[in-house]
Order: sequence, then C-alpha cells, then structure tokens
Amino acid sequence: MTGKRLLFRQLFDNISCTYTYLLGDILAKEAVLIDPVLEHAERDARIIKELNLNLKYAMNTHMHADHVTGTGQLKKILPNCKSLISKESGAKADVYVTSGDVIKFGNHQLEVVATPGHTNGCVTYIWRDQEMAFTGDTLLIRGCGRTDFQEGDPTTLYHSIHKNIFSLPDHYLLYPAHDYKGVMCTSVGEEKLYNPRLTKSLDEFVDIMKNLNLPYPKMIDKAVPANKVCGVFD
Ligand code: FE
Repeated sequence: MTGKRLLFRQLFDNISCTYTYLLGDILAKEAVLIDPVLEHAERDARIIKELNLNLKYAMNTHMHADHVTGTGQLKKILPNCKSLISKESGAKADVYVTSGDVIKFGNHQLEVVATPGHTNGCVTYIWRDQEMAFTGDTLLIRGCGRTDFQEGDPTTLYHSIHKNIFSLPDHYLLYPAHDYKGVMCTSVGEEKLYNPRLTKSLDEFVDIMKNLNLPYPKMIDKAVPANKVCGVFD
C-alpha cells in the first residue's frame, strides 16, 4: 500500500462472510466505511475512534439481503457520519449516488459505477489512485452475486461485469463484499482468466445462473426491510 496518507483495513463478519472496508486519509483524518454489518457497528466505531479518524460516510454497495447494514447504528455512535447508497437501490440514506459520481474523503476519491444485475442498485466503487475497486456482490472471487432474488438478472450482471469491471486494467485489485472460502482479494486479470462463470459466453452464463438451485436466503425477509431504512427502525 503506497502513501503515508493512506489507511486501508479489511474487516470481516464470520456469520454472513461479509467484508467491510475502512478507507481513510490519515492526514486529513477522514474515512469512509464500505458495507458495514450491524452486529459489528461497535467494533468498527472503536477502530475509527482509536485511529483518530472522522467517519464521513457509512456506505453500501447495494441493498443487502444476507445481513443487516451497520450504517444506521454507526450514525448513532458517530453522529457526524452520513449514510450513503445508490439512488437506484430504493433504500433510504442521507446521500444518494449514481453512476459517475465521485465520493471524496480527505485527499482521496472513489468513483461510483453502476453495476446492476445482482440488484438494480448495485454499484462498484473504484479507487483509481490505489488501482483497486470494491465490487460488492457484483463480482466475487471466482464467482458472482446471485441473480435469483431481489431484482436479479443474469444478462444484466454479465454485461455490468464485462463492461465496467473487466474493462479495468488487469492489475487492478478487486475487493468483494463476501468470500466464503477465506480468500480476501483478487485482480481483474485473474478473474478474466479463472472466473468459472464469467469466462463463459453470455448464454452459458445465463444457463449456469438459472440452474444454481440455491436455497432461499435465510436472512432476506429480515434484512431487506431493515436495509431499506439503514438497518435501524426508529
Ligand atoms: Fe447482496
């Protein structure tokens, strides 16, 4: 990791296998948190306070179905922080972003790129200076998000990944919202070569995604209504 100003932390929830990312500018003392999990809001807030950072945004890559977001709870603990999600997600937040927007924290910035397909509101956050991107559930390591619930659509997902993620330089590092095998990071080049689904043609991909026969997500009936309101019912 280059630059004295930079802070990067990958945090984990072992129930939903969710990765939460803390990105910060140490000199400006400003940070953002991507995909926080409700049960870890205290943990995340403690790290942020101990590192003497101000949390500018508690943000999501999409409206999750497998865990409740920590953004609402974090706002209660860290009152200066604002929740952020894409406008297309349909969830409530203080700040709505859309494709092409830039999210600034200190001297750094993330670019918002719409990558629908797992849900309509899925976005990927690209950190150009650091040559990395946070893909949410759009692209997972050697996998991708499900397309059999919420507004899932395999054709849309396939095009989103090829157009907006596989078009990044091969060495860009990719950080997903989940991994179920303990792998923490991948790269564009690696996924273009080895992703067992996205290396296939569109027709084959659609066929794979329509025949996964996965169980109904355990948390969906609780998580989606809660995530519509930042995870906290007032
Ligand atoms: Fe998801």
